[in-house]
Amino acid sequence: MNKSIVYLVGAGPGDPGLITVKGKNCIKKADVLVYDYLVNVSLLKEAKDNAEIIYVGKQGNKHTMEQEDINRLLVDKARENKIVTRLKGGDPYVFGRGGEEALVLKENNILFEVVPGITAAIATPAYAGIPVTHRSCTSTFGLITGHEDPTKDQSEIDWEKISTGLGTLTFYMGIKNLPNIVEQLIKHGRSKDTPVAVIRWGTTPVQQTATGTLSNIVEKAKNIKPPAITIVGEVVKLRDQLNWFETRPLFGKTVIVTRSRDQASEFSEQLIDLGANVLEFPTISITDPDDFDPLDKGIEELESTDWIIFTSVNGVDSFFHRLFNLGGDVRDLKGVKICSIGPATTERIKEFHIKVDCQPPKYVAESVVEEFKKIESLKGKQILMPRADIARSYLPEELQKMGAEVADVVAYKTVVASNGDAAILENLKDGMVDIVTFTSSSTVRNFVKIVGEDNLTSFKEKVKFASIGPITTKTAEEMDIEVSIKADEYTIPGLTKAIVERAG
Ligand code: SAH
Repeated sequence: MNKSIVYLVGAGPGDPGLITVKGKNCIKKADVLVYDYLVNVSLLKEAKDNAEIIYVGKQGNKHTMEQEDINRLLVDKARENKIVTRLKGGDPYVFGRGGEEALVLKENNILFEVVPGITAAIATPAYAGIPVTHRSCTSTFGLITGHEDPTKDQSEIDWEKISTGLGTLTFYMGIKNLPNIVEQLIKHGRSKDTPVAVIRWGTTPVQQTATGTLSNIVEKAKNIKPPAITIVGEVVKLRDQLNWFETRPLFGKTVIVTRSRDQASEFSEQLIDLGANVLEFPTISITDPDDFDPLDKGIEELESTDWIIFTSVNGVDSFFHRLFNLGGDVRDLKGVKICSIGPATTERIKEFHIKVDCQPPKYVAESVVEEFKKIESLKGKQILMPRADIARSYLPEELQKMGAEVADVVAYKTVVASNGDAAILENLKDGMVDIVTFTSSSTVRNFVKIVGEDNLTSFKEKVKFASIGPITTKTAEEMDIEVSIKADEYTIPGLTKAIVERAG
């Protein structure tokens, strides 16, 4: 059956949350994804594992591929009986050459569909606190290319008409041409005092906005580089009251998350929601233990086990996966009491439909010991602890002193993540990073291993270090890293809170 089709999809203006549901589905079902410079690459994560992903971006004069070749690529891929999703920044039909691509597909009898996206002229002002229309000051709104060559004799733009005939004017691609745009508008009757905003990388954590009037915006926006959009009109004044995005607590802060890739997302999302620019720099990979025998023995003996103590989300995951792989299920835990070190671990246990019998008030091993002293005598009790290969010996030792028989088994191994992201390391050295976060002792140790002692010394003074709890802080201090942001509650939300309070 011929399934070939090309979806011309608007990926939205930058914030990956601003793609349509339909657009996202087109990414999910694509055999081939063809994407542009302005598309947020995190959207590509939605693609199928075996999807072919092709970058065809044009950044200023740097073109990976010329338009004709892109057109040909879309036709060729569709002819291979494939679902092709052509992802474009913003909306495909707004200064995106989507119309040209659609015509080529039509000429070649290739089925296509268009999925509109949120265009930059609507989304970026919204994120800069500017509604593009407002009843009290404008009832018209125009989208204009600012790319036109100012030396061109015959302008396609009727400056006479648009300068005073439209309320809000938005200029795409016009940052280099801004002096000419301003000159034309004033020459054709727009007041010099008209407010103007220039927004770069709108809707992303690195959004930058300059404001002024037609008389001074060229000077005020002189440090703004492409991609940027220019908004001209009285509506720009509303930014003073409506600037919600750039006023979020962590806006303008770049924060490094060092957790393993699988675990980073929850933390990253919290920081992003508060406005931070998050760079994920995984320092840990989770792998199987070298030897499953001790864990398997623990699982075999569940019937006579009194307690299982879980001290990490990974411990929960690896225990249950092994139990299920060995053919067991949750009924094998009947009669076994469950202790969890803290709320994140508890949440994961509950996902397996298991109730937690004990969670200490402070989320550290010492607090677990205190809690057991209160609950019951551990004399002769059998305790299973599925943990990491490098977990501290404190907890099993203390429990043994209290008379318990403890099976402290390796359920997973944490290894140093293979290689650091070179670009992030450069950012650190250049002083572009504000905060490095540590969520366990291994993140500290591995971070130092990956970046190297020499590099660490070179950027140590330029960043703040944040730690989830006292053990992690101690490890950092032992490695000569001064921790200035310490969580009061030893959880990811606790760490996030401390960052908000002390990031400034
Ligand atoms: N199809 C796109 C526009 C492509 S033309 C859309 O509908 O938004 C490229 C121009 O769009 C850039 O030069 C810039 O002027 C504008 N633009 C796109 N995304 C932007 C963003 N996140 N912030 C500021 N300007 C943006």
